[in-house]
Formats: sequence, structure tokens, C-alpha cells
Amino acid sequence: MRETSNTNPPYFNYVRLEFVWGGRGDPFSYPLETVIIDAGHGGHDPGGATNAWSFAGGTVYEKDLSLDIAKRLHALLAVSHPHLQLVMTRSEDVFLSLEERCSIAYQTPPLRPQTSSLFISIHVNSATSNQASGFEILTKEQDKRVTLLDAFTPPIENIPLYSAHSQLSLNRLLNQRNLVVATVFEQALNGSLVTSRNRGIKERDLWVLNGSRMPAVLVEVGFLSNEEDARNLLSPQWRQRMAQILAQAIEQCM
Ligand SMILES: [Zn+2]
Repeated sequence: MRETSNTNPPYFNYVRLEFVWGGRGDPFSYPLETVIIDAGHGGHDPGGATNAWSFAGGTVYEKDLSLDIAKRLHALLAVSHPHLQLVMTRSEDVFLSLEERCSIAYQTPPLRPQTSSLFISIHVNSATSNQASGFEILTKEQDKRVTLLDAFTPPIENIPLYSAHSQLSLNRLLNQRNLVVATVFEQALNGSLVTSRNRGIKERDLWVLNGSRMPAVLVEVGFLSNEEDARNLLSPQWRQRMAQILAQAIEQCM
């Protein structure tokens, strides 16, 4: 059933309140209550794959490792922060387009007004050189302007949040928040994993980072093409540790 008139009064009041109280705060820095966890690839898109490692006992696929870490992260946050709204873009081995991942993110309404959301995408790197190793944090290109509010912005609760700002100002605020979030993730990972090299924060023009319309990081947790990283990636204890560090970083973003 379509709800019509009975949704109007509270929404109207909320807009008025925002207006009265001058709701020009940074909507991306409100308390974090929604986390979108995106396991890279899936289904017919395996992501990186290798059969180079005899200790792996067969071909290893990025899509399985990213999903495993995503599930561990979800489980940790669900226990330690039960108030969070946690959304997995996929929780099994299925294909999702990049557009679908983004629309899951921006179509998830915040739990309450004046709370914010974070998109975290988990991937595993591969390189032609087996020397490349370590983690890196990818974030949106600062000069790539994204559309934050348009006819397709679905959750009505978001509108008063954004309406006090121009698109330019929203993009500036989003860039600032992305940098803060990426730095938190980099620092959390740096030194927490004995064997892992910090490859730093990199700006990338990636669909999931631009299209989710919220602060977003993509964490490349290690290289499948590097022997030491691959040994780590294949260890459930290491993946659990990785999930714990990601959970700690998310905690610091709250
Ligand atoms: Zn990937």
C-alpha cells in the first residue's frame, strides 16, 4: 500500500525544525549509524585469481576472500555495536553490478535524522610483479564532483540533511570527510599487521567511490600475487585480524 498523506506532517515538521535551527552542519560528520559493507566482485566476476601457490591447494579467488572478510567484519560490528544499521551489498557468491552496489548504499535510509553513513568496500589486489605487497586505501578523486542530490535521491529523510548546502559545498564536505575516514583506516592498518606494507592512500576514479553518495573507502587488504600476502590472505586468523582492524577503524569514525 502506498502511504501518502500520513507521511507528510512529520516530514514537514522536520524540515521546519532544520530550518529553524539552521541545520547547516556537515551532514557527513553526523554520528555514524549506518555502515554499508561491500564485498568486492562475486558470482561470474571472480576479481583477481591465482593458482600460483601450492600451499593454496587450488585456485584462489578474490571474491571469496573479500566476502569472508566482509562477513567477519559484519559479525564483529553486530556484536560490538548493536545500535548500528549494518548492510551487506552481498552476503553470498552472487554477481552485483557496481550500480547495484551504489544504489544499495544510497537507498538505505539513515536510521534517524542527523546520523551519517559510511561505505566500505573490501578488495584483494593483484599485480604482474610478485614483489608488490601490502595494503592500500582508495578514496574518491577530490576533483571528481559527484551528484549528491537529484531526482533519484530516494530516502526523503536525507533531503533536509542536504538541502542547506549547494552541490559544491556538499562535495567539499564529502571530500573532507573522505580524507578523514581514509586516514583513520590507514592509521588503523599501519603497524597492526606485522608483515603488511603500507602503500598509502590513493585517489581513484572508481564507480563505487563516486556513486555511493556518502563517505566511502575501498580497502585493498593485500596482494594475491605476492607469496607472503597470499599466505596471510589464506589464513583465517589473519582475515579475522584484518576484520578486527577494519572494525576498529569504523569505531573511530563514529
Ligand atoms: Zn577487486
